[in-house]
Amino acid sequence: MKQKLKIYLQCRKCHEIMVYPHINERSIKRERCLNCNKFSTLIIWPSKEIIDILNYLYSSNQSLNQFKYISITFLCSVSEALLENLLSLMIWQGLAPKHKAFNIIDSLFDGYQGRNKLLSLYNKLGYGKFKEHLKIISREKYFDDWRKLVEVRNKIVHGKLYIIDYPKYNINVRFIKRLIVETLEVFSGLNNYLLSKHLDRNIF
Ligand SMILES: [Zn+2]
Repeated sequence: MKQKLKIYLQCRKCHEIMVYPHINERSIKRERCLNCNKFSTLIIWPSKEIIDILNYLYSSNQSLNQFKYISITFLCSVSEALLENLLSLMIWQGLAPKHKAFNIIDSLFDGYQGRNKLLSLYNKLGYGKFKEHLKIISREKYFDDWRKLVEVRNKIVHGKLYIIDYPKYNINVRFIKRLIVETLEVFSGLNNYLLSKHLDRNIF
């Protein structure tokens, strides 16, 4: 049997993201939320399309280098997009009562592209530091693993990844699969942590 990723669903009412082990992904409509305990629309997180592609990469047994490179590049894009989503939420909550919040968020992201700049923005927003938050959700190791993944992605897209780099970056299918799982765990965990400690579940 092929390995599959856990299904994460986000509640429309309380916005918590949780794993729902017994739900068939095609039958998601309304369920009782495991967090707020209300009947709510639960939506596949981050999206059905992303989960389908990640599942395809995760369940494949291919060990071709090209396949690894595609997996790394896609996972980097997903992780940066998930970080952007979190940042949008954090900024939106600070600006929501005022007008033009979307314009401000868009302009901010124009100046903060890529993992390092997005992380520096995260740390400036006043909710705490990214690394500290990883520690709170018990995922400190993800910081360096993710950095490594992005370094490899940058080498791949610039045509500068050589066989000699493989041991240094630990480029193997196991590492990539582990990071696919951890990326979902980290960003759902950060969403839930921020909602429980810093953000207002009613401002969305
Ligand atoms: Zn809920």
